[in-house]
Amino acid sequence: MNSLKCTVCSQKYSFEDPRWRCECGRPLDIEFTPRFHLGRIDSRPPGMWRYREAIPIVSDDHIVSFSEGYTPLVEADVSGFRVKLKLDFLFPTGSFKDRGASVLLSRAKELRIGSVIEDSSGNAGAAVAAYSAKAGISCCIYVPSITSNAKTSQIEAYGASVIRVEGSREQTAESALKAAESTWYASHAWNPFFFQGTKTVAYELCEQMGWKAPDTVVAPVGNGTLLLGAYMGFRELAEAGVTGSIPRMIGVQAALCAPLHAGFRGGADSAPCPGTQKTVASGIAVAAPVRGEQIIKAVAESGGRFITVEEFEIIMSFKDMARKGLFIEPTAAAGIAGLRKYLVDANDGENVVAILTGHGLKSPEVPMLLE
Ligand SMILES: *Cc1c(COP(=O)(O)O)cnc(C)c1O
Ligand SMILES: [Zn+2]
Repeated sequence: MNSLKCTVCSQKYSFEDPRWRCECGRPLDIEFTPRFHLGRIDSRPPGMWRYREAIPIVSDDHIVSFSEGYTPLVEADVSGFRVKLKLDFLFPTGSFKDRGASVLLSRAKELRIGSVIEDSSGNAGAAVAAYSAKAGISCCIYVPSITSNAKTSQIEAYGASVIRVEGSREQTAESALKAAESTWYASHAWNPFFFQGTKTVAYELCEQMGWKAPDTVVAPVGNGTLLLGAYMGFRELAEAGVTGSIPRMIGVQAALCAPLHAGFRGGADSAPCPGTQKTVASGIAVAAPVRGEQIIKAVAESGGRFITVEEFEIIMSFKDMARKGLFIEPTAAAGIAGLRKYLVDANDGENVVAILTGHGLKSPEVPMLLE
């Protein structure tokens, strides 16, 4: 039987319970045994839903999808090192968040939810808005009132309503939490179904490498939906005996906002984060990630670590990627800046994959970076 389980106190809840957090206030995960029928997977069209038996949506009728995923894995030279890049900016809304939104809104449909709320002015908000539109579910996104129209226009274009909250990002989250008492909370940071979608990046990577896990995976990290999701996926494949190992997970944070890096090194678990508004890597400027402890534990278990990058390093990596024909968001470029640092003492022949998380066309900061 599938169930929901608290990541901290281990309290279990029925799988049918629409709750999004434990009574103790901490995030939940889903207890579920994924199955991998390699023959069946191979016979299906490319896309994240080819791993159907590994995604806990009960009925195919409820799947909300644009046939997204199975993004290309390409080779590139970075700092004189041969690496592989997973082009996860190639999604309908322009970021990997569509993986999570596809499963999350499928679950909402399965639960016959009529309207959802989320708080994010960025890519998660756009993804939840797009998949809500596809599902015919009404969607409301809470953002801080200072958020630019450039950032909310994609969300509004999908027909979602945007609620502007006076005050900080934290006050916005507070308002969303209040609204979540009466409306389903489609939160990318909290809702465990989002991670059941993001984990598919690990399945794709392993399949694209002949059902072998890479040695190392590098990705930018804020709320950890990608890094933690990927780790879950790699672990599931190893536990099912499909792959023989789990990669080192390397999480990249902007030096201006690096609470996970600080926590990993044994610092205060709510390290000050003065640069939330300042870094060009706005997609990872998360001062207090709700799954912080879980992310740090996953990175430690995998034998990985966190790397911080300065603003000039992010901008250099943005330009370098663009000159290779890869136009990515500054937040995604932070991951490449971290990759460069990682490669300084990587082993010869190490199989390193970096995930390119968001499309440059989305980003209003780009003209500024070219000055
Ligand atoms: C959301 C996002 C990230 C970070 O993902 P988390 O789930 O917050 O760790 C990185 N890059 C881009 C482009 C994003 O949209
Ligand atoms: Zn609990």
